[in-house]
Amino acid sequence: MGVPKRKVSKSKQGKRKSNKALKPPTLVKCSQCHHLKLPHNICPNCGYYGKRKVIEVA
Ligand SMILES: [Zn+2]
Repeated sequence: MGVPKRKVSKSKQGKRKSNKALKPPTLVKCSQCHHLKLPHNICPNCGYYGKRKVIEVA
């Protein structure tokens, strides 16, 4: 529910925003080349997604 801005103390606001910081992205190891990659994405190192080669990497 909406709360008027002046009713929220700076301390309360800070405590809420302390949870909002950017976190490093989750990385998983590629099953083919063990390169670190983003989950559910084609591996940028070998072009595999799971067991299948999807793109040609130069
Ligand atoms: Zn790979």
